[in-house]
Amino acid sequence: MPNNNLPLYGAIEGGGTKFICAIGNGPGNIRAEVRIETTTPEETMKQVADFFKQQETNFGKLAAIGFACFGPLDPSPGSPTFGHILPTPKPGWSNADVVGMLKESFDVPIAFDTDVNGAAFGEWRWGKAQGLRTFIYLTVGTGVGGGAYVEGNLLHGLLHPEMGHIPLKHDLKKDSFEGVCPFHGDCFEGLASGVAVEKRWGLRGAQLAPEHIAWDIEADYIAQALTSYSMTLSPERIIIGGGVGSLPHLLPKVQKRTRELINGYIQSPVILKNIETYIVNPGLGGRSGVLGALALAEQALQKAS
Ligand code: ZN
Repeated sequence: MPNNNLPLYGAIEGGGTKFICAIGNGPGNIRAEVRIETTTPEETMKQVADFFKQQETNFGKLAAIGFACFGPLDPSPGSPTFGHILPTPKPGWSNADVVGMLKESFDVPIAFDTDVNGAAFGEWRWGKAQGLRTFIYLTVGTGVGGGAYVEGNLLHGLLHPEMGHIPLKHDLKKDSFEGVCPFHGDCFEGLASGVAVEKRWGLRGAQLAPEHIAWDIEADYIAQALTSYSMTLSPERIIIGGGVGSLPHLLPKVQKRTRELINGYIQSPVILKNIETYIVNPGLGGRSGVLGALALAEQALQKAS
């Protein structure tokens, strides 16, 4: 049974095509949810605010809001551009002060982070990363992005990690596809995103048979990236989600290939013997993002009080 005495949070999962907004305080207690088409920042954020205002009349005031958004963005409180989308090819969104727009309507703590950091935090709070201190959440879908939780904190660094844009070994004899990244061509996202898969094979990932050679190539790219992340951040677990990343026949190939590429160098039983517990799909399925935003709101209230 939902506990109605708990604070009520607003959650926003902001994506390039849609915004999912929810209010509640956990996976078992979502009171209302809405899907809003992503148009201009002003129009989209107004619809978000209208939804929350309307739900507040039904359920009471929000205690905090968590906003996990597509990037690039500025997640650093104290920075002059905190809460802004940074220059992006997405028309109309460059430098949009999306948190400022929310603040006009809501005088509550607002947490703002990348969509993938949000999803990582959701997995830490309620999914497959519960109890872990250091792990990675990677999404392989339309784009490729990763969130990192390191020694008990979401990693931001200079801005935020861009794990989808690392260079990979690209053997043109095995895969002559040039890649789709407008900045790098054949970076990880350029070679392995859902857009790349569709452009290379003329079929969407979900339409390609599990035994298609596409999946050996895809697993190799993902495994190269996971090997780099494993060597760099020493995560205790790596969670792979997203439309392509969650395909069930892909996971065993990625696990096997990652173990081959690490090649015994990391002497840990979880890699040497139990890689199926090291590389996993999300515990929250496609809900990591919106629930992660809810968890960010919960943390924002804790930090403020
Ligand atoms: Zn790139």
